Amino acid sequence: MSEKKKTLTTAFGIPVADDQNSLTAGEKGPILIQDAHLLEKLGHFDRERIPERVVHAKGAGAGGYFEVMADVTRYTRAKFLSEVGKKTEVFARFSTVGGEKGSADSARDPRGFAVKFYTEEGNYDFVGNNTPVFFIRDPLKFPDFIHTQKRNPATNCKDPDMFWDFLSLTPESIHQVTILFSDRGTPATYRHMNGYSSHTFKWYNDNGEYFWVKYHFKTDQGIMNLTRQEATHLAGTDPDHATRDLFEAIDRGEYPSWTLEMQIMTPEQARNYRWNIFDITKVWPHADFPPIKIGKLVLNRNPLNYFAEVEQAAFSPANLVPGIAASPDKMLQARLFSYHDTHLHRLGPNYHLLPVNAPKHARETSYQRDAAMRVDENGGGGPNYWPNSFGGPEPAASMGEPPFEISGRAARYSYPHPEDDFQQAGDLYRKAMNDEDRAHLIGNIVDHLGGAQKRIQLRQTALFFKADPDYGRRVAEGLHLDLTEIKRLAEMSPEDRARATAAPETK
Ligand code: NDP
Repeated sequence: MSEKKKTLTTAFGIPVADDQNSLTAGEKGPILIQDAHLLEKLGHFDRERIPERVVHAKGAGAGGYFEVMADVTRYTRAKFLSEVGKKTEVFARFSTVGGEKGSADSARDPRGFAVKFYTEEGNYDFVGNNTPVFFIRDPLKFPDFIHTQKRNPATNCKDPDMFWDFLSLTPESIHQVTILFSDRGTPATYRHMNGYSSHTFKWYNDNGEYFWVKYHFKTDQGIMNLTRQEATHLAGTDPDHATRDLFEAIDRGEYPSWTLEMQIMTPEQARNYRWNIFDITKVWPHADFPPIKIGKLVLNRNPLNYFAEVEQAAFSPANLVPGIAASPDKMLQARLFSYHDTHLHRLGPNYHLLPVNAPKHARETSYQRDAAMRVDENGGGGPNYWPNSFGGPEPAASMGEPPFEISGRAARYSYPHPEDDFQQAGDLYRKAMNDEDRAHLIGNIVDHLGGAQKRIQLRQTALFFKADPDYGRRVAEGLHLDLTEIKRLAEMSPEDRARATAAPETK
């Protein structure tokens, strides 16, 4: 704060004489329309809210840096990864997914884990989650899926029937459902969870060789989760607990950090692998592709203003710098479109000029011009078209992704071998979880699925049974369902199971 008191002004810098008493016609008279300060103040207030994100509405963010810890130049030519010890400025945003901007941080939900790297080759956005897999693998299903996790169109309440009806009719969700209903579905704070790319991405080097990769940001604070009871309690007593925790930890100088580990696969390994490596419902087992430590993410700066930095932060998985490229993962392909599209709607066509979104260590030299809220020099008097002979910016062919082959017959393909979808959910239950994890998982499921209609409970429990018979049996016991009926449903095709458990009036 400067010593000298600042004079209050209007938005246009005109000194304000009185900010407590509106201009009226006489002491008891009505307000005059010439009170421009009042009209400006109300008019701006009326427009304070921008559209809420449809998903990931509630979030917290912080600035920091990423430091390279290993030589990865044989895998990628990305400049920000080019030297051990190199640091790049970042801004990260964590979020819940399904709840509104005012919803509780402790909700059972995946957590968004987004990091914007302000590199010298432009902004690179990592837009991941705290789970290594996802519920669906075709983006055509995404709007339907999200509708079922939100509010019933008639009651405007969360609805366990919608929630479980969709998931139980979408068997590929079983792996992510198992993670979501483990205690990892309610992380203790944003500092105590991992971040995964979930998708497969491509890295390519200076020689044009490429590799398939997955990112794992492992928390250095250790994984810590809430039990169902703790999460429910916090939702009532401190719904912003994770937002506050991140801010206060950084304020205390306890800077949270994550170690970035990569799984890397050669194209030959990918061709022969037993699963489709672009299927986002599956992980690459660590034993097959051991994660390699390559860097550290540290958050050491709180935003000065939440709206300016966190609410207006706009991430897009399409923001990829040279050396990093997309994979054919269908979910990723749709996200390459959808995030930018959302920001155009939410923040406007010039959202890239907002300080948190603008490149910091590279310059924007494009031919995009005009549109609402263009707040920079708009390209000045330079040419606004390409090609031009007036010295405008030129494309640099050497920066492009090496050519890659694509072939095939255009059609709408489902994923083959749907029986494989149960393998990794079962591995998680049998192998990664301990007895306490399994007991909490079953309790969390029974508590939530118990709110759905019985026919939906049966259908979903058949999926748990298919992942692991013990898993299905324990959920069935918790819900007092007939195990013989569950086994019968588990043996059916998805279509027959759906028919056998349809609502009576639709049968
Ligand atoms: P591993 O035994 O090598 O790996 C198991 C991994 O599971 C751990 O490294 C840990 O991942 C994660 N994990 C441990 N406890 C839990 C839990 N309670 N809830 C969720 N995840 C947990 O086996 P695989 O690589 O063969 O994977 C087995 C299963 O582990 C998978 O089916 C998947 O469900 C889960 N998993 C696998 C990951 C992978 O990339 N391979 C990543 C995360 C989970 P982390 O170190 O990332 O915390």
